Amino acid sequence: MSDAKKKKKKPEGPNKLKIKERMKLPRQDMPAQNPSDRVKNFNEVPYGLNDEQAFQEALRCLECPNQPCVDGCPVEVDIPGFIRLILEKDVAGAARKIKETNSLPAICGRVCPQEEQCEIVCVIGKKGKPVAIGYLERYVADYEREHKLVQLPKIAPPTGRKVAIVGSGPAGLTVAGDLIKLGHAVTIFEALHKPGGVLVYGIPEFRLPKSIVQAECDFMADMGVEFQNSTVIGKMDTIDELFEMGYDAIFIGTGAGLPRFMGIEGENLIGIYSANEYLTRSNLMRAFDPDEYDTPIIRGKNVAVLGGGNTAMDSVRTGLRLGAENAHIVYRRSEIEMPARIEEVHHAKEEGVQFHLLTNPIKFIGDDQNRVKAMECLKMELGEPDDSGRRRPVPIKGSNYIIKTDLVVVAIGNASNPLIPQTTPGLDCNKWGNIIVNDETMQTSRKGVYAGGDIVTGGATVILAAGAGKKAARAMHKYLMEEVKR
Ligand SMILES: Cc1cc2nc3c(=O)[nH]c(=O)nc-3n(C[C@H](O)[C@H](O)[C@H](O)COP(=O)(O)OP(=O)(O)OC[C@H]3O[C@@H](n4cnc5c(N)ncnc54)[C@H](O)[C@@H]3O)c2cc1C
Ligand code: SF4
Repeated sequence: MSDAKKKKKKPEGPNKLKIKERMKLPRQDMPAQNPSDRVKNFNEVPYGLNDEQAFQEALRCLECPNQPCVDGCPVEVDIPGFIRLILEKDVAGAARKIKETNSLPAICGRVCPQEEQCEIVCVIGKKGKPVAIGYLERYVADYEREHKLVQLPKIAPPTGRKVAIVGSGPAGLTVAGDLIKLGHAVTIFEALHKPGGVLVYGIPEFRLPKSIVQAECDFMADMGVEFQNSTVIGKMDTIDELFEMGYDAIFIGTGAGLPRFMGIEGENLIGIYSANEYLTRSNLMRAFDPDEYDTPIIRGKNVAVLGGGNTAMDSVRTGLRLGAENAHIVYRRSEIEMPARIEEVHHAKEEGVQFHLLTNPIKFIGDDQNRVKAMECLKMELGEPDDSGRRRPVPIKGSNYIIKTDLVVVAIGNASNPLIPQTTPGLDCNKWGNIIVNDETMQTSRKGVYAGGDIVTGGATVILAAGAGKKAARAMHKYLMEEVKR
């Protein structure tokens, strides 16, 4: 058949629109709470697409034969495949299609940086706006959950092998979900009193409702995963003791939860929190709900948050919702270098956050009761690129100025927690304390011990942690079946 004839061929499948017609369809906007209302509550900001909007958005997909969006997804979700199922009105089938490679679609649909992954390579985005893949992922996962269509998968007969997972963030949950389906007995040991990792203690309710994370954990429990919360491995039992207790293989998914500080004068003043402590108090310990919980938290009128990542945006927007009149982001590079998702920066701006870019604090100033009252900053300019590939901020001499603040949140990144490496002989780590693994299998230097997520990469993303969990689960299954005798 000639090329011309091929072009004229009617599209197959449920989408009867011609390619040209699909390209003319506008991208659907996600309806969201009004900024002036939402800064007074902790409810989720975007409402999600309705059925008609999701259908219209799905019609935009060109069903590209080479599927660049699938290559752009770290876990290779069959994106055109699940979009096609939306058009066939099989929304639960679409959710199941995503779950073939991503166990946490309701979470990833909300927090993944699609603009840097699947959507940036979407063909339709070259001329207009890309297909809203993240919105559609959220839509199908919410539809499946809200219509009670989530089905328990088939669980293989028991293998007699026992697996311990340390840490219940996206990496640990993914390993648990994959290994329980294969018939292994799985126990998750979690230091906090609730499972979910950063998804519960870090990311605020207005971005990721905790009921969604709980639903994922409940689903794991329904499949047979046992959760042992409030259990700090390395303090209560070590990795070696877990082996002695009869576990055949262990996955370490303990994340990067050790806060970094500026190391400047005045950092011990009252009113200066690490983002970890601030967000944990607000989210996990529910300080945002003072009618029900009496968790203490400082509610500043002038909040200054140091950093430019998602953690910084979450902290500053939490500060506003806890009653701040002025909320500042202080970041030493420019907006282009900000690691936060574009949507988070956009939402923060809409909510009235003031951005002090190319600005670095050099000293905190306290009052006579040792409470922070201001911070001295220096303006910066960008020099040559540093190790991270981003242009290095260089101080401008004599540019000092003062920002008035009564609450500072330091959100400049986290390091890995040293507890497990310190209590596990023979577990190799790099100079930053991240566990070293084989990239293909996620196996550590210890036999039968695997690791993945932020504890290996340093602070990264939910989907990368989940992807590492998938790889580890595959290798652990092979190890359990081939090398552990029963
Ligand atoms: C505030 C914030 C906002 C973020 N926003 C986004 C976003 O929008 N999009 C995105 O993709 N990523 C985001 N991230 C990053 C993302 O959340 C992480 O990359 C991801 O959660 C890492 O998953 P993980 O499973 O490796 O570890 P974690 O989620 O950190 O979970 C580790 C778990 O291990 C537990 N643990 C630690 N030590 C022990 C021990 N010794 N014994 C037992 N349990 C232990 C911890 O309590 C924790 O529950 C954000 C991170 C933060 C902090
Ligand atoms: S690249 Fe975009 S248009 Fe092409 S298949 Fe993927 S989502 Fe559809």
